[in-house]
Formats: sequence, structure tokens, C-alpha cells
Amino acid sequence: MTEEMSAKLEKLAELQKKLYAFKYATSSIYLDSATVAPKDTEEGRGEALGILTEYMFDLSTKPETIELLEYLKEHSEELTAHQKREVELLLRDNEFKKTIPAEEYIEFQRILSKAEAVWHEAKLNNDYEAFKPYLKDIFEYNIRFAKYYKPDQEPYNTQLDMFERGLTMEKCDKFFETLREHIVPLIKKIMATGKNEKLPKLTGFAIEKQKQLTEYLMDFMSIDPNHCVCGETEHPFTLEFTKDDVRITTHYHEDNFESSMYSVIHEGGHALYELGGADEHKYTVVAGGVSMGIHESQSRFFENIIGRSEAFITAVLPKIKEIFPEQYGDITPRLAYEIINRAEPSLIRTEADELTYCLHVMIRYEIEKKMFAGEITVDDIPAEWNRLYKEYLGVDVPSDEEGCLQDSHWSGGAVGYFPSYALGSAYGAQMLAKMREDIDVEAAIASGSLKPIADWLKDKIHQHACMYDPEELFLMVCGAPFDPTYYVEYLEKKFSDLYGV
Ligand code: ZN
Repeated sequence: MTEEMSAKLEKLAELQKKLYAFKYATSSIYLDSATVAPKDTEEGRGEALGILTEYMFDLSTKPETIELLEYLKEHSEELTAHQKREVELLLRDNEFKKTIPAEEYIEFQRILSKAEAVWHEAKLNNDYEAFKPYLKDIFEYNIRFAKYYKPDQEPYNTQLDMFERGLTMEKCDKFFETLREHIVPLIKKIMATGKNEKLPKLTGFAIEKQKQLTEYLMDFMSIDPNHCVCGETEHPFTLEFTKDDVRITTHYHEDNFESSMYSVIHEGGHALYELGGADEHKYTVVAGGVSMGIHESQSRFFENIIGRSEAFITAVLPKIKEIFPEQYGDITPRLAYEIINRAEPSLIRTEADELTYCLHVMIRYEIEKKMFAGEITVDDIPAEWNRLYKEYLGVDVPSDEEGCLQDSHWSGGAVGYFPSYALGSAYGAQMLAKMREDIDVEAAIASGSLKPIADWLKDKIHQHACMYDPEELFLMVCGAPFDPTYYVEYLEKKFSDLYGV
């Protein structure tokens, strides 16, 4: 290697370490704001975040950085596969950023730093009008940025592609259409059985006891407590500093222990993905999950395919009985499985059952698509939201708090994110079919530890971090392109059996 090359590679490593440090700092600020920071303190954080964002933006877009990356790209035959990928990902990020005027990017970050608090207050007060101007800005900035980035492409396609490379409206429409065709009639059949009314409604789960269950579940999932802990926030999330330091959060409800139980398993799935990365990715841009769709495939795989399976519920029931003898003392494994998988149309996405969940996502997708196409404005969102809930789920939305103000995503600037939840769920069903060729999934669950399952996923997916694009990775794991029929068949089989329809 020439001296010049080795100096350039040193610079490449240095650049990524600096970006890592900025990400660490902004993540710490976010974690603080979501956990212990007092209510009226967002101003100071906004100032600090604005400045850090400016530095990060400058660092990744300044001529010296571009020159370095272009040089390395031209000499790519001298690079390792890993270094090549680092350069590719940095250039890709740069391609987007360099099209956006720096002051607009920074202004958008400032708006976002306020939007979250405004949304929060608006949701508490059921006051859509208070949040509306922010939502308008967030959609407008996203649309404008998408147009700057890919002027010849439909902006919503650009947006989808940013969260899940390769995803388009055409693919989403086809996928959602397949789901709707099968799920809507199945829900109608289920509701006609009247079985839900016969399932017991259990309440009064002390929060201190629920915390014991959290610890048990994390251990069952083989999450190392020396590298991952669970905190409490209004909305559960996962945040990673490095593969050795991952945080998850949950929210406890006295009358619904399943809400926290499944948040812990969901976020635990995200955590296992982050914890499972190979050491070589550390402090580089290759570290971490590759896309939102693949990330959600891991979280929703553990939450639903494993966590809501009869085998898993049977395996954890003795512990649930021990912690909640009053409520669960007399419940059989089959009845617990039926209670936990109660499927019915509802208002809140995060509390939705596995079967109806994707319809909630579809509604958000339809609204985002129409906003990007200019077919509706922020003035129309509440009415459009309520109309689609009636059409797809047959429910009346009583307030914006339980309607279009329920999710935090838009206030965080994440427009185009929602489809990855449904897509991730569907990826998981196809991954399960592949996993079954190698391991006995039910036996692993019954053994009292999900380690064999987590190890399989680590080997096939987690260890690679961002080395491969999602479509390529999926093909490597499943040996075939994504096919939604695996998911539809999985849902039909599970819920036909549960409800005898
Ligand atoms: Zn998630």
C-alpha cells in the first residue's frame, strides 16, 4: 500500500469515528429527553442539537470529505470489502445531503426539535390545530427534500426508498392489496363468531410485578444484561450507542400487562439485532441495522411469530402464573393463547393485535401517499383518517387523540416509515419458513431460552449489520425474493385455527 493510501484510510477511519461521536452525543440527548428530562426543558436541548447537527452536516459534506471519498472510490481495488462498503455508504448519505441547502436542513432539524414537544402537548389536549402548522412544515420539508434529491422521481417513492432501499409505491400497493383481500374478510368472519366476548378480560397487574416479568423475558430472549437494559418511557423504543451498549424502553399499564410484555419482546428483537453485529463494524458507518424493514422484521418476528405463538405462551405461562396468581392462576395454556391473540378492530396501532395491525399501517400509508401527491392537505388529515378507519376497520374514531395524533413518527420527521412495519412483519413469516429448515423452533422455545433462534438470526442477519442492502440480504437469508403469500398464509392458518373459522 502506498503512503498516500494509508494516510487516506486513516482519514476515513477518523471521519467515521467523529461521526460516531456526534451520533453518540445526539442519541444521549434524545435518551435524556425521553426519559428523565423535566417537561419545560426542550429549548436548551434544541439549541445544542441544532449546533451538533450543523457540525455533523458540515463534516459529511465539506469538500475535503468528498475529495477523500472520491479518491477512495477511484482506488477501490485497493480497499477491503468492508472499506469499500464504508465509502459507498458515506457517498450515498452525501448524495442526499449535498442536494439540500445547509440552512434548510438545519432549519428542519430545529423545527423537529420543537415538534415533538408540541405534538405531545397537542395529543394530551386533543388539539390537532396546535400541531397542524408543524405537521404542515414536516410534510413540506420532506417533499421538498425528496424533490431536491431525485427531481425526476415521484417524491413519495424517494421517501419510501430512504427507509427501505428498493421500496416503491407500486410494491407497497401490491403488497397491501394482497393483505387487504385476505385480512378484511377474515376479520369479518372472526367478529361473526362472537368468541371475543367470551374471553375473560383480566385487569389489575401491579407495575412492580410487571417489572419482574420484563427481567424474565429479557433473560428468556438471551439478551445480555451487561450490554442492554430496559427503561420506562411513554412510547417504547430501542436506541443503540454501539453493539455493546443498547437501551430499550417500555411503558407499563396496570390494566394491560400484555402491552408492556410485548413491547419488551418487540424492542428486545430490535436490541438483539443491534447487539448481534460483528466487531469489525464498530465505529464505522456499517454498524447497526440496515433498514427499517429489516429492523422491524426482527422486532416483529420476536413479538408475534415467536412471542404470540402457542409454544411461547405455554413456555412462559408458569412464570406469568407465579407473578400474577390472582389473574392467571386458573388459566390453561390454550386459553392464555386465545386471550393474548384476541383479534378485533381497534383504534390504536400500537395496541392492535397481529391480524388487524397491518390495516392500521395501510391507513397511514394511504394518507402519506395522498399528502405527497397533493390530493389532501393537513386540514384534511383528521377527516381522512377517520374515514379510512371506518372503511378498513369498521370503527368510529371518537377523537384526534385516539386518531391522527396517536403516533409520534410524524412529529419526529419520519414520513414514509410506517410501511416498513407491515413489510417487516411479512419478511418475518418467510424467514420463519427458512429457519424451520435448520432448527426445531417449537423445541427451542420449549427449552426455556430463545438463544438457538437468536443465534440463527445473528448468523444470517445480525452479524452483517449494513454490509448488504436489504433486498440483497433478504435474498441471502431466504434464498428467494420477498413473497407476501408466506405472511398471508401464516395469518390465515393461525387465526382460522384460533377462531374455528
Ligand atoms: Zn419497532
